[in-house]
Amino acid sequence: MANTTLIIGAGIGGLTTAALLAKAGHDVTVLEAHVYGGGCAGTFYHQGYRFDAGATLAGGFNPAGPHDQVAQRLGIAWPIVAAEPAWRTHLPDRVFTRFGDPTRWQVELSRATAGLPDQAAILRFFERAETVSDAAWAFAGRRPAWPPSCVADMVRLAGALRPDTLITLPHVFESMGTWASKSGVMSRPARAFLDAQLLISAQTTAVNANAVFGAAAIDLPRKGVNHVRGGIGGIAQTLVDAIRRAGGKVLFRQQVTALETKGGRIVAATTNKGLRVECERCVANLTPWDLARLLGEAAPAQLARETASRPEQWGAFTLYLGVEDSGLPEDCDHHQVVGDYDLPLGETNSVFVSLSLRGDPGRAPPGMRAITMSTHTKAGQWWALRQAPGGKQAYAERVSAYTERMLDRAERAIPGLRQKIRLLKPGTPVTFRTFTRRHRGGVGGFPFTSLLTARGPGVGLTNTWLVGDSIFPGQSTAGVTMGALRVADAVERDSR
Ligand SMILES: Cc1cc2nc3c(=O)[nH]c(=O)nc-3n(C[C@H](O)[C@H](O)[C@H](O)COP(=O)(O)OP(=O)(O)OC[C@H]3O[C@@H](n4cnc5c(N)ncnc54)[C@H](O)[C@@H]3O)c2cc1C
Repeated sequence: MANTTLIIGAGIGGLTTAALLAKAGHDVTVLEAHVYGGGCAGTFYHQGYRFDAGATLAGGFNPAGPHDQVAQRLGIAWPIVAAEPAWRTHLPDRVFTRFGDPTRWQVELSRATAGLPDQAAILRFFERAETVSDAAWAFAGRRPAWPPSCVADMVRLAGALRPDTLITLPHVFESMGTWASKSGVMSRPARAFLDAQLLISAQTTAVNANAVFGAAAIDLPRKGVNHVRGGIGGIAQTLVDAIRRAGGKVLFRQQVTALETKGGRIVAATTNKGLRVECERCVANLTPWDLARLLGEAAPAQLARETASRPEQWGAFTLYLGVEDSGLPEDCDHHQVVGDYDLPLGETNSVFVSLSLRGDPGRAPPGMRAITMSTHTKAGQWWALRQAPGGKQAYAERVSAYTERMLDRAERAIPGLRQKIRLLKPGTPVTFRTFTRRHRGGVGGFPFTSLLTARGPGVGLTNTWLVGDSIFPGQSTAGVTMGALRVADAVERDSR
């Protein structure tokens, strides 16, 4: 059973770890509950459309970016097409188009902030944030293990530091909001623009988002974002192919339902189909709650404590639309709409709308496009409605209300959208629970508030690691890929 590694879950974190280990000669088996891979970054087929379930835009393919590092190690090419502009943010009184090209973005930022009393401060702040972001991305590219969990991690962390890392120091312990305020960025549009982007990239707004992480997160367009041909699920499929080429196994429709432990190690997993897989090491592409549930009484005390005390992750309310491809925006496929400055973001007041790449074969019937729309929502409310006596009706009413409000928002970006809709399917955290098996349908990992509270891959079992958006640096295909690079290294070190 030399170097036998079991991976539970074929999300981007699990598949990336599996592909790296298979390439390095490990005997890898991936067990996936669903019928295809990708999880929150999967693409599903419905009535002639291929809809992205959650993620629609992918970053981290730039040279030395996490997906690029994986491609170099595996010798693969990703099926991507650059998205330029990355997206357009529609605020109640103005629009910002996030160009990746730095010169166009500079011109756009000046145009979009024209007339604001703090325009000069905004321009200076974004310039400074980009410098901090460059240092943070370069640091991340050298793959420091954060948070460090052993001496080797400390050595790697120290080795990743460079003189330019120093520029991040003043911001390491402050929030993006504090930094923006100190810089004189105070106007509502500027703060809402910042908040809206942080919510989708750091899972929290400026008042709580860590400044260094926030600077790197809002700079994603400049680093380059992409459509994936055939849908975002193409990332997972490329990884599945790489694993199988390297001799690894990826088994679908195999939901792990029980884990066996011995001496503080996971030694085998059993699935709902009665398959039992023994392992030397285990990588769980799960949330901490889901791993704890599978371990039952064998869950280490630290994991049990964590799952009892951690607040829930955000949920997502989604709409999947099949629309006529006439009169849709020609120059930009991704739109973020903020409805009202006076309301908190999320819960339909901020909506992300993504159109499938025009002409991408298989995404939609001829003359049609597939759209995925999402808004952050508190997952608990949907479960409360679902579980309350007679709650079915209230649940359905809330789905309708959210659908209507989302469409209202989206009309700002795509005028006349309602008339073009030929197919509409909503999704709630209950849906996400069904298809990704994630605890209460929570998605997106943990809000990134502090470097000190970042979660590493350890779970208190000597041969088991967590991977995916619950570990640093968290959500996004790029983020979970960074975590997977770290976990694959740790498994390899352990096997030596
Ligand atoms: C609405 C929405 C929009 C998003 N937008 C973007 C975006 O535009 N860009 C971006 O980069 N990111 C985006 N994200 C975030 C991104 O999709 C996720 O952070 C990332 O895909 C999570 O990957 P993961 O490795 O944690 O795996 P997950 O996606 O959580 O997948 C885990 C896999 O494990 C499987 N599994 C679970 N339990 C078991 C079990 N017991 N046995 C076997 N298999 C099991 C599941 O079926 C699933 O396939 C978005 C997310 C959502 C929800």
